[in-house]
Order: sequence, then C-alpha cells, then structure tokens
Amino acid sequence: MSCYLCAYGASETPDVLQPLPPDSPSGANDDLGTCKLCSVWACSLHGTRYGAFECAVCTPASATQQALVAGTVGNAAATQAHVIGLQASDDVRGGVRNALRAVLFDHQRASATRADTRSLVAQGEGEPNLVANLADVIYQQIDSRSVAAVRGRQRGNVSFDAVGGAVRAAFLGREFLEATEDAETTVAGALLLAYHIANADADAQRLDDSRYWTTVEVRPPWKVSRPVLLDPVMWMMGTAYALERETD
Ligand SMILES: [Zn+2]
Ligand SMILES: [Zn+2]
Repeated sequence: MSCYLCAYGASETPDVLQPLPPDSPSGANDDLGTCKLCSVWACSLHGTRYGAFECAVCTPASATQQALVAGTVGNAAATQAHVIGLQASDDVRGGVRNALRAVLFDHQRASATRADTRSLVAQGEGEPNLVANLADVIYQQIDSRSVAAVRGRQRGNVSFDAVGGAVRAAFLGREFLEATEDAETTVAGALLLAYHIANADADAQRLDDSRYWTTVEVRPPWKVSRPVLLDPVMWMMGTAYALERETD
C-alpha cells in the first residue's frame, strides 16, 4: 500500500499540512486514510482531515468548485486555498480574474445550447469549450515546441479527452455564480496549491520562505512535470489561465 501522491512523486503540501507528532507510531509517508473525493490513499504530507479525509490533489479542485458552483458554502478546502490566495501576486490574481471570466462565459455558452453532449466523447467532435469540451481547447493551445512532449492527445499518462470528460461531468448541468473578489482569491490559491503539488521544481526547502507562493509558476497544465497530479478541475482553470495570458 502506498500514498498515491507519494507514488507519483508529489511535493509536500506547505501551510495546509497536519504533520504527525514526533512520537507518532506512524511514519510521515504511511497512508492515513482514503480521500473522500477521489478514493486514493494519502499520507500525512498529502492529506488533511477536516470532517472528512481529503488528498492534496482534491483540495484545490474542491476549493475551485466552491468558488464557482451555486449552492456551495465555502468548505474547508476553500478556506485553505483562500489563505494561500491572499499571498498570490497581482499578476496571478489578474490572470485568475480573466480565467474565471472565460470559464463562466464558456459555461454559459454550453448551457444555452442544451446540446446532447454524449457525442463530445469522440475526439475532435464539437466546438472547443473550457467546460463542455476542454480537450479540444487544450489541443488547440499546444504549440509546436510542446509537441515533442505530447503524444497523440495526451501528455505522459494523462489523456486530454478523459480530463475533458471529467470536467464535463463535474460542471455541466450545474449553475455557476458570478466571481466575487473572495472567489478570485480562493481560485488563485487553489491554482498555486495545485501547481505546487504537480511540479517537480517545487522543493521543500523553499517552503520556509514567506514569499514562496509568489514564486510558484502557473504554467499551462500540459507543461507541468507531473500532469497526473493535477485534478481535471485544475486542468480547466490552468488552461483558461494560459489562454487568457496569451490574449493579453
Ligand atoms: Zn504522500
Ligand atoms: Zn483525492
């Protein structure tokens, strides 16, 4: 048995850790529980428990859902992301503001057509859309320099089409809210947290630096070193972020 995040080489999660006491009979990387959202096992460095145990891949995704979807209340994940979002640079916050606008616009567009989305599981079918058809947005965005790292419609062991399907399932048919300033802060923090986990260059020593969160680079999701550790919801936000920066 192994922590899923340890198995894929995730960085530790700063600020949101619930470290074991020194005399704990368990090791820091022993699995402590099963994530309530995605069912992977996670260790003390990659999971937190507030009411229910949650892995560090799901925390930013859950926080983002709380910022977007009507009927949510601002759960534990959102409060953790918000604290980190307060430390985001103005540059990142501006990018997140535009990215949220793009996601809301595409969600509205997809909801208005009420098309049968079952055909979107076929590759290259339908209009690119951040919410309904993320795979084709990603595929359009991949520049020639990335082609070497992207085989077919996937990066490493992550299929763009499957990621797009997960995003569709998470968001289509649900009502979105207009972004508030606090929602922007939450999503900014969620992006930084997600990229910290999914990037190999995030190293533990730098966690002591109080300015750490301003140094996390929000690159396109298909360029992170461990794309499997980005939740599909964060693939959506990261793609929207990359898109909006290009059009600036
Ligand atoms: Zn772990
Ligand atoms: Zn999880």
